[in-house]
Amino acid sequence: LPIIRAQNSPDYIPVANFYKVEAILRPWRIQKVSSALLKIGIRGVTVSDVRGFGAQGGSAERQAGSEFSEDNFVVKVKMEIVVSKDQVEEVIATIIGEARTGEIGDGKIFLSPVADVIRIRTGERGEKGERMTGGRADMFSAGSSST
Ligand code: ATP
Ligand code: GLN
Repeated sequence: LPIIRAQNSPDYIPVANFYKVEAILRPWRIQKVSSALLKIGIRGVTVSDVRGFGAQGGSAERQAGSEFSEDNFVVKVKMEIVVSKDQVEEVIATIIGEARTGEIGDGKIFLSPVADVIRIRTGERGEKGERMTGGRADMFSAGSSST
């Protein structure tokens, strides 16, 4: 993560143990993105079908007409990944690496702090709540057979 800045700085990023990486992506790139995420030990991902518009002024993606009616929203996929702080930059780099075409409409990534992660089944919170079977912790622990 970037250097922690003073809380009154305009560049301040809230400090947290966990962050949510929320990426709005081209639907046809999701397969590439998710398989790359699997390779770096990401097991928990939530995906939703969404529609939206960005600037996209004068772009190929922009539909005819300048008015943003519901009919010219562009179909996208939203991917939400909650990870521990030390995985954030790797996840962001992986998403960019797999999702970027360089053309207008590649999407955007939003990063926000997450106060806690609670596994409903067990009631585990914090690091235990965030950790997943086959995840990064498993990948680097001796004797694990990760796929
Ligand atoms: P359990 O071991 O009880 O199954 P789990 O941690 O594996 O717990 P699930 O119950 O499988 O969690 O998760 C349910 C859904 O929550 C997943 O399908 C996914 O959409 C979402 N999810 C889980 N973990 C994350 C995460 N770290 N980031 C984003 N979404 C997640
Ligand atoms: N950090 C978790 C682990 O190593 C995985 C987090 C995730 O899959 N979103 O188990």
